Amino acid sequence: MADTKGKNPRKGVPLDKETADKLDPKRIATSQKPDKQEVAGQDSVYGDWTQCPYCGHVGWTSGLHTDYYIPVRCGACQRVFMA
Ligand SMILES: [Zn+2]
Repeated sequence: MADTKGKNPRKGVPLDKETADKLDPKRIATSQKPDKQEVAGQDSVYGDWTQCPYCGHVGWTSGLHTDYYIPVRCGACQRVFMA
């Protein structure tokens, strides 16, 4: 996967509702307004802007990973996508 750190918002990938409903809610990150834009300790885990594929909302999301997608709940429309 391309390294999107510090570049344009990481574009979310739509996730069907059935799959989203099966996810553990505690493991879903939330895109929100940034309070602190600090990057987590490990290099591969970081915070960045993500863009909701449903409504286009761009929110700050921490816990993103450079090597794989994580589920993210949109801070605006509350739907879950992968980013
Ligand atoms: Zn949204």
